[in-house]
Amino acid sequence: MRVGFPHFSTVYITAKAVANKLGASDDELIIPPPMTQKTLDLGVKYSPAEACLPYKLTLGSLIEACELGADVLIQARGTGICRLGYYAKDQEQMLHDLGYNTHFVNLDVSEHKIQSLKQLVKDLTHDAPLPKIISAVFFGISKLFALDKIEKVVQKTRAVEIEKGEANQIYREAIKAIDEAMERKEVKKITKEYIGRLNQVPINHTANPLKVGVFGEIYVVIEPFANMDIEVELGKLGVEVHRTMTLSRWVKYSLFLNYLGMNEWREVHKLAKPYVDHDVGGDGWESVGEKVLYARKGYDGVVHIAPFTCMPEIVAQNIMQSTRENMPVFALISDEQMGKQGMLTRLEAFVDLLEFRRRNGKRI
Ligand code: SF4
Repeated sequence: MRVGFPHFSTVYITAKAVANKLGASDDELIIPPPMTQKTLDLGVKYSPAEACLPYKLTLGSLIEACELGADVLIQARGTGICRLGYYAKDQEQMLHDLGYNTHFVNLDVSEHKIQSLKQLVKDLTHDAPLPKIISAVFFGISKLFALDKIEKVVQKTRAVEIEKGEANQIYREAIKAIDEAMERKEVKKITKEYIGRLNQVPINHTANPLKVGVFGEIYVVIEPFANMDIEVELGKLGVEVHRTMTLSRWVKYSLFLNYLGMNEWREVHKLAKPYVDHDVGGDGWESVGEKVLYARKGYDGVVHIAPFTCMPEIVAQNIMQSTRENMPVFALISDEQMGKQGMLTRLEAFVDLLEFRRRNGKRI
């Protein structure tokens, strides 16, 4: 059995850590290459034209995993009111049509997540003892938490560093070091070490950076290729980015705290209530609430990232225009037609607008 999965930000590091701890050999886990134009081209070629970008990108990535020899593929499955419910079935059919003899195992990301994860791990590990599986999963998850903790510092440092790109370079090294760590103790040590290094980066102490919140559909918000590295680009323009959605937060709530009755979106749903009071699929409800939240917290602006043809985010985008809490919204629609140069020009104009508003007491 050679297991593959679609690339999604740093998820491969967790998958690799879990597999190694369970004693899987190198060729039993196929790590898909990072997203590139080739991944997108493959996905676009074999997807329905109207499919959303995460569908196309994950299909392209699964094809790349098949080319590397994967015969079992892990894919997310949803039961919500959007296209996620069709991803696995449609993509499996397409891969069979392309001649790949693959079998899909699904991870339910809408309901029964923990049962679904248990089943997935059972299917893939056969007779591994439960304590060994739990310890391997926790080790893998600890890497996600470490990376997100470091990234929070990177988001702040990028905005004020004197030598642009230094924080990014340290972050890249941190990702590699965390990936190579063999024990949880080592992960902790590396996290401390890299946060220390980031805190040493020479910064402009007098700068008061603009603050921007980033939200939208989870895949395009977290996967840098899908959003053309918008957070890095904002950092280069001296903007501090805040993003609620992270992989570790998703794991923390979806696999643990939701089962204890804690809802990470309670406050956000409450804020969205005057405008939309129910789930509209995907992350649409949360996008409306996040805009209100960032406006109330005094942020200078927000970036809303939505895949082209994503119904939940189209609903959110339309509702957001009429909220009382007014603030500039940079709408980034992700699809295969996107061009980075055009996005950068718009982003510069957006940042100019935010600076102008701040100088004028945000009255414009
Ligand atoms: S939320 Fe939007 S982009 Fe994500 S799967 Fe659903 S329709 Fe596609």
